[in-house]
Amino acid sequence: MRSSKHPKGLLLINTGDGKGKTTAAIGTAFRALGHGMRVGMIQFIKGKWKTGERKLGERTPNLTWLTMGHGFTWESLDLDRDRTAARAAWSTASAWLQEDSYDLVILDEITYVINYGFVPLDEVLSALQARRADLHVILTGRDAPAELSAIADVVTEMQAVKHPYRDGVSAQQGIEF
Ligand code: ATP
Ligand code: MG
Repeated sequence: MRSSKHPKGLLLINTGDGKGKTTAAIGTAFRALGHGMRVGMIQFIKGKWKTGERKLGERTPNLTWLTMGHGFTWESLDLDRDRTAARAAWSTASAWLQEDSYDLVILDEITYVINYGFVPLDEVLSALQARRADLHVILTGRDAPAELSAIADVVTEMQAVKHPYRDGVSAQQGIEF
């Protein structure tokens, strides 16, 4: 095993239609925080609820938790506002990729803002490739562009096998949000 004294920053992508992309990223954050590592989390999309992980994340030492989107873009009536919010989130994210503030950076739901054309894929690719050499990065969201998967070290595709949503069961606190 390589010594952790010579860390190599890895790029991980959690994608696919199944549940577990964001929560797996948070699980990794929990793991890193346990070693005293510094974690920066940016959520590009804000859902309907103030999630449990956000409540805890905003008051956890060594963890910076920013939720920068306004709402789900597919419910939004104001695409200009969403574009502006996405660009602001990306501007913070790209600074985090360069500076020495974090050991792990999570860009949650970034695939949506790329696929909507709010943040150019080329910019994301070059910022990731030019990032600090020892920085770990996790990207989450459905439909990760192939170009991102190509430069990643770990790509995991969550596959939806069953979900109670299908039977009309509403989102459950502590599990879904
Ligand atoms: P989680 O946050 O639970 O890890 P996720 O990040 O994989 O889920 P998203 O696509 O970000 O999933 O969707 C966000 C919300 O939709 C969460 O409340 C999640 O539990 C729920 N969800 C995820 N996958 C499915 C699915 N296949 N069917 C129904 N709901 C889902
Ligand atoms: Mg998610």
